[in-house]
Amino acid sequence: MLIYNKLTNQKEEFVPINPGKVGMYVCGPTVYDHCHLGHGRGYVSMDVIRKYLEFSGYEVKYIMNYTDVGHLVNDAEVGEDKLERRAKKEKIDPIEIANFYIQSCEEDFEALNIKPAIFYPRPTKYIDKMINFIERLIEKDFAYESNGSVYFSVEKFPDYGKLSGRKTDELLAGARVEIDSDKKNPLDFALWIKADENHILKWNSPWSIGYPGWHIECSVMSCDLLGENTFDIHGGGNENAFPHNENEIAQSEALTGQRMANYWVLWNMVNTNGLKMGKSLGNATNPKEAIKKYGAGTVRLWIISSHYRSVMDFNENSLNQATKNLEKISKFINHVQEKLAKINSTNEDLATIDFDYYQEKFKEAMDDDFNTPLALSVFYDLITQTYKLETENKITALDLKNILSFWNKVNSIFSLEIMPRDKEEIPQEIMQLAKDRETARKDKNFQEADSLRDKLKERGYEIEDTSEGFKLTKN
Ligand SMILES: [Zn+2]
Repeated sequence: MLIYNKLTNQKEEFVPINPGKVGMYVCGPTVYDHCHLGHGRGYVSMDVIRKYLEFSGYEVKYIMNYTDVGHLVNDAEVGEDKLERRAKKEKIDPIEIANFYIQSCEEDFEALNIKPAIFYPRPTKYIDKMINFIERLIEKDFAYESNGSVYFSVEKFPDYGKLSGRKTDELLAGARVEIDSDKKNPLDFALWIKADENHILKWNSPWSIGYPGWHIECSVMSCDLLGENTFDIHGGGNENAFPHNENEIAQSEALTGQRMANYWVLWNMVNTNGLKMGKSLGNATNPKEAIKKYGAGTVRLWIISSHYRSVMDFNENSLNQATKNLEKISKFINHVQEKLAKINSTNEDLATIDFDYYQEKFKEAMDDDFNTPLALSVFYDLITQTYKLETENKITALDLKNILSFWNKVNSIFSLEIMPRDKEEIPQEIMQLAKDRETARKDKNFQEADSLRDKLKERGYEIEDTSEGFKLTKN
């Protein structure tokens, strides 16, 4: 299995540290607002990767955090905490804000069929461990206290920039010089921040009453839950490679003297109609809105129709295409199930379709850095071949069984909700006939209504009148 490693910018053979096991840590959202679709895309992508690893026989310890303190506005080193700003605006406790948006995220994850993580650590529950971690970094001379705050000394860590490809001299040239900064070097970043009087979330520490910097949480929580040594996969969004992931590496590797993670797997962003999606740009969509409009199955299929490392675009066309593809898969699976129920199972051991070929192609695609669009196209090819062989009367009961068993494997990774028969797209002309009949019925023109019912029957549709209107079923 090849995985593209951001650390080396190339695909590498996946070799787990412990045979049969994978430790995976994914940077989660800062819970001061609803998730946006970029998060949805990221966590669906990580879910597919996790499920494919499980499908391949690995036991995956999957961890995702929720950031509930320390992430400052504009990802800055000084200023307001994102959660506190929201809490002050809404006059609610920041922890309540966090709980509210964590619940909202969980609703989205559940709707999108994302398997729950083994742990969802939160920095507010890790303050003691963070203080201890920082103390050890100070002892090792990688960090220093200054006026109640503690900073990581970037020049002490020569590998700084290895993930994002930034060079410290270039970073220095572009660094913003903060007035009255307590830092020895403008590139140093905060591990602990002394709180001002208005700050709500604050804790005692050996240095001041304060709160942790944003990056320290992921180092501390991954060490605590995956062990203080290298783990296999660190996932996250591309946009957080610098400074967030880079700083995680510096903190963890300075402390342990070992590589933090062997593979850095970062997903790409989602645009809206060709423009960057962002709350401040006013064009952000959250998963709830997308699911409401298009359905969760369609949104999930839309996400896996792109490779996780390519930029996605949220637009009407791409979502309509996903709707069509989900209908295509649904129709096919429903059709195969129905046909298998009707067929008499003679020729049990004869199959026309070479399933080894499809399974092999699917595995090849997924083994090549989780190439989901290619893996999907393997299934679409199977659909085409099946329909073709059906017209030649060559499909056997064993073929149908094989199709369903192959689909179950594919869908244990893709987790797509198949549309039931009655939700499949009804052609517009059929819909029109049904509406005309409804009108005729309301006008008490029963002869016309009956004749339209017969017409629908001729076209293979049964119409039923319910308290919520008519219901069409395909025969
Ligand atoms: Zn993180």
